[in-house]
Amino acid sequence: MEYEVVIGLETHVQLKTKSKMWCGCANQYGAEPNTNVCPVCLGMPGVLPVPNDEALRKTVLTGYLLNCEIPRFAKFDRKNYFYPDASTANGFVEFEFNGGLSRVRITRAHLEEDVGKLTHFERTSGVDFNRAGVPLMEIVSEPDITSADMAYEYLNALKDILIYGGVSDCDMEKGMVRCDVNISVRPVGSQALGAKIEIKNMNTFSGVRRAAEYEIARQIGVVKQGGKLIQSTRRWDDVTGVTEEMRTKEDAHDYRYFPEPDMMPLAPTDAWLAEVKALVVELPLARKQRFIREYSLPAGDAETFKNDVPLGNYFENIAKQSKNPKAVANWVINNLRAKLSESSSRREEALTEESETDQSLLTSAATSVTLANLKFKPEALLELVALVEAKTISSAAAQQVFTEMFDTGKAPAVIVQEKGLAQVSDTGALEKFCDEAIAANPNPVADYKAGKLAALNSLKGQVMKLSKGKANPALVGEILEKKLKG
Ligand SMILES: [Zn+2]
Repeated sequence: MEYEVVIGLETHVQLKTKSKMWCGCANQYGAEPNTNVCPVCLGMPGVLPVPNDEALRKTVLTGYLLNCEIPRFAKFDRKNYFYPDASTANGFVEFEFNGGLSRVRITRAHLEEDVGKLTHFERTSGVDFNRAGVPLMEIVSEPDITSADMAYEYLNALKDILIYGGVSDCDMEKGMVRCDVNISVRPVGSQALGAKIEIKNMNTFSGVRRAAEYEIARQIGVVKQGGKLIQSTRRWDDVTGVTEEMRTKEDAHDYRYFPEPDMMPLAPTDAWLAEVKALVVELPLARKQRFIREYSLPAGDAETFKNDVPLGNYFENIAKQSKNPKAVANWVINNLRAKLSESSSRREEALTEESETDQSLLTSAATSVTLANLKFKPEALLELVALVEAKTISSAAAQQVFTEMFDTGKAPAVIVQEKGLAQVSDTGALEKFCDEAIAANPNPVADYKAGKLAALNSLKGQVMKLSKGKANPALVGEILEKKLKG
């Protein structure tokens, strides 16, 4: 019997807000333990919590970004605070998978608050309450995911959307994204869901993929051997690469939600909702598709601009004015991006060598080049593309021009002039070089006449040398052919 996989994900994301959910304590990673705390976030009685408007806005914004319905009335329960949901099941995340587009429906996104962080030391344990009360959004998917790889792609797509929307920084290393993975298997064609097995508290997407792969194989193995799976919770051990049972449904707690007596229910006004809706941005996938459509870019280039938003914006600003956006993309991706990363890695190098206090290195590193402080103007890149298109300069010379304009900010035409890089397209001059090359190289000439057409390249090379690299190669080829055939 063949089995199919059913996966649903509950993803917890820390919201990017200045303060915590119910108090003014900073929502800040990496502070000394228990320094961002107060009676409210420590859960002391008798306090008067005030909901964080920024957190509410970001949750509702997420609802819009995920195509969810936004409730007109929400009450605060002890566990769930506020949730845009997809009551008509039209909330979804769309993403590229297996060469096509996949869609995972979103059940709901709701707002909670994070809890303190337990750290185990050698002999004792400590709790850091800095994280307690940080706005935490839970995004629950429908069980639409059918493989470990698909779960991985869904999570990446979700993360991109949240970063684009400014909802969360989604920094995995800082624990800003965690998820619970619900996995079951069932015979192909069966409608009933198998026993739901949940893997708790995953904090990397690659971990989710590995854990799901392991768990799928384990579950299919169990049922194939006639065993029975029961609803349970498991833990993933990233080192040994296995899941272990934590508890079964029998000893699971019965969670009940109590309406929060101190909290006023929320009924967002039309004006407030309109303000949030105005924050909706173009989604990553839509941006990639638009770049392919509007600028005729290959998928790889569009993907680069999807992943690097500032670089994509920079490209788009120039491409709008260019007749050859693909050429602009090539310069931006192959040359500009390489130069920028060179500059930033030099800066990092300088910073790590700080102890040696090489002052000159530090000074130059302090002025590391970024998109924001480029020496040349965007129009210069347009001009460079035009110079190559008009065959005024060769592509090799264009590389030289780019380096110079990146370093000095001089206009391409000025650099071409100063360095004498203009291609020679004057046929009179080129004919002279061709005659010289033919006279000086009888062997390739004989080879070419005997039918070895590749011998033309050797003659072309001679002409380029005679012209000091400035001859227009296409014209040279034409002239040589004409002369040798005539
Ligand atoms: Zn507090």
